[in-house]
This record gives sequence, C-alpha cells and structure tokens, in this order.
Amino acid sequence: MTAEAVEAPTLRTPQGFAAAVLAWFERHGRHDLPWQHPATPYRVWVSEVMLQQTQVATVLPYFERFMARFPDVASLAAAPVDEVLALWAGLGYYARARNLHRAARELVAEHGGEFPRRREAVEALPGIGRSTAGAILSLARGERHAILDGNVKRVLARFHAVPGWPGEATVARRLWTLAERHTPHRRAAEYNQAMMDLGATVCRRRPDCGRCPLAGGCLARVTGQQAAFPGARPKRERPLRSTRMLLIRDQGRVLLLRRPPSGLWGGLWIPPECPPDADPAEWCERELGLGIVPEPPWPRFEHGFTHFRLAIEPVPARLRGGGRAMEGGDRLWYNPASGQPRGLPAPVSRLLQQLAWPG
Ligand code: SF4
Repeated sequence: MTAEAVEAPTLRTPQGFAAAVLAWFERHGRHDLPWQHPATPYRVWVSEVMLQQTQVATVLPYFERFMARFPDVASLAAAPVDEVLALWAGLGYYARARNLHRAARELVAEHGGEFPRRREAVEALPGIGRSTAGAILSLARGERHAILDGNVKRVLARFHAVPGWPGEATVARRLWTLAERHTPHRRAAEYNQAMMDLGATVCRRRPDCGRCPLAGGCLARVTGQQAAFPGARPKRERPLRSTRMLLIRDQGRVLLLRRPPSGLWGGLWIPPECPPDADPAEWCERELGLGIVPEPPWPRFEHGFTHFRLAIEPVPARLRGGGRAMEGGDRLWYNPASGQPRGLPAPVSRLLQQLAWPG
C-alpha cells in the first residue's frame, strides 16, 4: 500500500492540517503553563529560551524563580550577570543566560525596554533565532509567524516524511517552508502552541500515533517509518579532554575561580583546574601562590558537551598553613552552606555536595 493511497485528503491541505491541530488543542493542549498567564513578550521569551534544550517539567521551577527575581526586562537588564547565571545554574547551556542578559540590556538601551514590532529586529537580539522570534510575536501578540522548534520539526518531518537531519541547511529550509505553509492566518498563537504541545506529548521520540489528530495523513505513520524521521545527526566521535579540579578546602570553604565571560562555562565559578600531568601542589604554588596538601584523588567521571567529552578528576586538598588566602575579583572562598547563590555548573555543584564539611 502506498502512502498516497491512505492519505486523508483534507489533512494534506494546510487548512485541514491546521483545523485538526487546533481541534486537538482545545481538548488536549496545555493551557495552564505559567508563561501563558499572562503571555507577555518577556515571559514568552524567557520560557522559550529555557525550553530550547530542556523539558517543560524541569523548566517550571526555574521559570518561577526567574520571574520572582526578574519580573520584567528592566529588572533583568539592571542585574549583575552573576545573579542571572546563579538562577540558571543547573539548566546548562549557560550561553542562553548570558544572551538573555545581554538582550535585556539591548532592549532597554535601544528599544525603551519593549520588544520591537518587526520580527527581523527581534531576531537581531542576542540569542534569539527565527523560531524564538516567531514564538514571541505569535504567542504574546497573536501575530502570524511560523515557528520551528524541536517539537515542531519532529511533527513536520514525520508528517511529510522529510529525509535528512534538520541541522543541515537544506533540510531546515524545507521544514521552514512547510512550517510557513501550515501556519494559519487566524489563531496562529493557538496553532503554534498546539504544534509544540503535540510534539511534546504525542509525537515524541516514541510517538503515540493512536492519539494523534494527524495520523490519517502522516506519511511516516502510514509507511511505519516514524523512527526514521527526523533524520539523525551524522555520527561523529566527540573527542575526550581531561582536567583535574582541585577542591581546596579551608575553614569550611572551598576555593572557586570565575571562568572568563565567554567560552566554556563562561562567567561561572569552578574549582581551580590543574593540568592532568602536573603536580597539584607545585602547580598551586606556582599559579595561585597557595600551599596545599593534596589528598588521594576521587574517581574520574565524564561530563558531556556538544562537541567534546570532559573527563574530570577531582583532587581534594587542604590549604597549608594558617590564614585564608586572598579572595576578590575572580577568586572566591565559597561556603556551600551559606545558601548564597552562585553560578555553578552542574558537575561542580555535585562535587561540592560530596565534599565532607567542615573541611
Ligand atoms: S501520526 Fe504519529 S508520527 Fe505522525 S505526526 Fe502523529 S504522532 Fe507523529
């Protein structure tokens, strides 16, 4: 049986597709997400950025905390970036938080704290791509803009059996064309929310086609090839890098250094990193001017980044001699029990929890 022979003709038209998605949304869509009440451009923006690499359930408490501290663009722009990173700690992909902060400052400096009207101007802000700009303008202002986040890509790639990895420019272009074609002129906000919900709750990695309003016209389903779409990213071995993290304790505190503002873990606080082939005590003396007594290393563990894996060997150590070594600037003696929020990458946060206190 060919796909064409079992197509539901109305679903294969943009109008029929949108009508089916909207009807499904009324009964099964998500209507009570915190960023929908009220759906201001600011709240939609923050939620969209948080959701870029993260599930809704994980995002919810982060979003609430973020809104409690930064209720609007002006408060976000006025905050030090450290505080923004601290509220982001654990969500990963910290460039998102730094870009949010930069964009908030740009909105205040150049647009009076309001989102611009044109999509191109929204898209020009740091960290905002075409899909996020479309989501902000449609979900918050009801305008007709297409979106293409991971959920929408999955639904469209399957429904139309679009081959290839969406990270490829030609595949992305094809999906954008389809997204534009399907977005209705009326109820675009509901339609976009519906597509995101459908991808998140029905057309998941393992799709539940029996509950899908598009099942009658979906080419992947009728050919039984749901798993083939969207195409996987071409395999490549991520290189392995190694580092040692020195967990230097003194009077219940641990030494942290701030990373440079851009690059890996930019602006976050991590323990001093000593090259794996160096002697930790000598390295500390030479690079930090600190005498330490290293203890046996803990087992190595790996942390995955997009482009490489990082093998981390934690080396606990005690500060030698009396008196706390200098702090200030990008050097901090951090007391995890103080409850003072700091931007810590997730693996560092876990390491600090494992340290025996008081040190
Ligand atoms: S029928 Fe299945 S594969 Fe096709 S869009 Fe619906 S859930 Fe996804």
